[in-house]
Amino acid sequence: MARGSAPQLPMSFARPRKKKGGLVIDDYRELVERLRADAARVAEHFELPRFELDADRPDARDRYGVCFEDGRIRVRLIHVRTGRALRYSALIDTVVHELAHLRHMNHGPRWEALYEQMLAWCRKEEIYAPQPRRSTPAVVSVTPTAQPTQLGLFETCNVVPKDGGKTQ
Ligand SMILES: [Zn+2]
Repeated sequence: MARGSAPQLPMSFARPRKKKGGLVIDDYRELVERLRADAARVAEHFELPRFELDADRPDARDRYGVCFEDGRIRVRLIHVRTGRALRYSALIDTVVHELAHLRHMNHGPRWEALYEQMLAWCRKEEIYAPQPRRSTPAVVSVTPTAQPTQLGLFETCNVVPKDGGKTQ
């Protein structure tokens, strides 16, 4: 039990908050380490540019993740309402989503193709193991009002260019 040793784990954005329900760093350190290790595997396999993964600020409630053009990736670890850690598969989904932005700073078709490819690889490697649905209906109704929550990621992920959007 090497308590207090924790090398190179800044957790810079996951500062504990004064009030109850804030992030307790020790509870999330393992989670962030695991995410980083898995992200590193993905990045190596797909030969992605350098990046730095950390927990998002506890008050960043309006997004699942963010990717900055300089390679900083921040991922929200906790559920906005319950304050509990999100499912690991959901976190990996977000991490992969953000990792794909290292190549494409948008949500265009090339980004999406890479994202799908990476997620499929993660599935194969058992990094990404979403819980199976209770029952799969034969006919899935696809209406604009009944989108899977996963699609929320596309709407609430931020990509932040270094120079305020001067790309292209
Ligand atoms: Zn995104």
